[in-house]
Amino acid sequence: MSLQDKSLHCSDCGVTFTFTAGEQEFFRTKGFTEEPKRCSACRAKRKTQRQGDGGRDFNSRSW
Ligand SMILES: [Zn+2]
Repeated sequence: MSLQDKSLHCSDCGVTFTFTAGEQEFFRTKGFTEEPKRCSACRAKRKTQRQGDGGRDFNSRSW
């Protein structure tokens, strides 16, 4: 059975984004069974925020 592109709604910004067959395949190889809840832009944003939190933690210690 071949995978097909899916249209999903981002839970953060509400935009409709495409979960492509290639990405589904990638998710599967990574062992993820759930579909992504966020578009790539919001995922990138959260990744940056997480790194920012680590930086803040580091800064608060040095203050
Ligand atoms: Zn989004």
